Amino acid sequence: MIFTSDAIVLKRTALANNDILLTLFTLRTGKMMAVAQGARHPKNRLASASNPFVYGKFFLLTGSGMSKINGVDIEKSFYSIRENIVKLAYGAWFLELTDLVIVEGEQNIDLFMELKLCLSRLADMDVNTSTKDVEVLKMAYEWTLLSKIGLAPLISNCTICSEDIVTSRYFSCESGGMICEACSNQIEQENSIRKQKKQSEIKVYKMGDTIPKILEFLLTKSVDEILNQSFHETYVKKLDTLAYEYLKYHLGVKQFKSRAFLKDLGKGV
Ligand SMILES: [Zn+2]
Repeated sequence: MIFTSDAIVLKRTALANNDILLTLFTLRTGKMMAVAQGARHPKNRLASASNPFVYGKFFLLTGSGMSKINGVDIEKSFYSIRENIVKLAYGAWFLELTDLVIVEGEQNIDLFMELKLCLSRLADMDVNTSTKDVEVLKMAYEWTLLSKIGLAPLISNCTICSEDIVTSRYFSCESGGMICEACSNQIEQENSIRKQKKQSEIKVYKMGDTIPKILEFLLTKSVDEILNQSFHETYVKKLDTLAYEYLKYHLGVKQFKSRAFLKDLGKGV
C-alpha cells in the first residue's frame, strides 16, 4: 500500500547494506519509522532526503514488515541548519524533543506546523553575531511543544489546593505548575523531613510577577506571535531553565543528548 504524507525527518540510523532507518514526523499519523534502502550511498536517489531536518512529501510502501520509502519530493532540506554547528545544536534539540513526545498513529497537526516554522526561522537566522533570537526561539518551542501535547503547566490556580493565585507565586515541576504560598511553605517543611530521610527534595521556584505572565503568553500564543515580541534576556534564561527542568521531570529523562551538545557550545543549561 502506498502511504503519502508531508513529513519531517527527525532522526537517521545507519543500517546494514547501506540502508538508513528514518524516524519521521508525519503530518497525517504522527511518528513513523521507515527504511530508505541504499540511501547511505551518495548516488542513491533517496540519499539527499535521508537527513535530519528534511521536510517534504514522503511516499511510503506500507504493509507487512517495516515500511519503505518509495520516493520523496523535498520541499525544504534545511541544509543551512546542518552546515552551521550552532544552528545544528539548536535544531537537534528541537528534533530530539519532538521525537520524544510524538506517538505512532497519533496526528498532531499543530505541533507539526510549529516545528516546521521553527526550523524555517532557525534556517534563516544569523546566529554568528548573537544567539539572543535563537534563545527566544528555543524557549518558544519548548513551551509550545508542552502546550501542544497537553502537558502545559497549570498557572492560574494552585496545583495542590486549587486556590486562585493572586500574589505570591511559586512553581513546582513535580506538582505540574504554580503553587500558592501556603502550599509552598508546606513543601518546604516536608523537604526538611525528606532531607533527614535522605530522600530527594521537591524544588520550589519563586516566580515574581513577570515570569508567570510571560509563561501564560508562551503557552497560549503561536511561535510566530512569540517571536514578534521582545523579552529581557534574564527572563528568557529563567524560562528556558524552567522548561528544561519541567521537560526532564515530565518526560522522565535524566539527560538529553542534544542539550549536552548545546552546553558544550556554551548555550543553555
Ligand atoms: Zn495551594
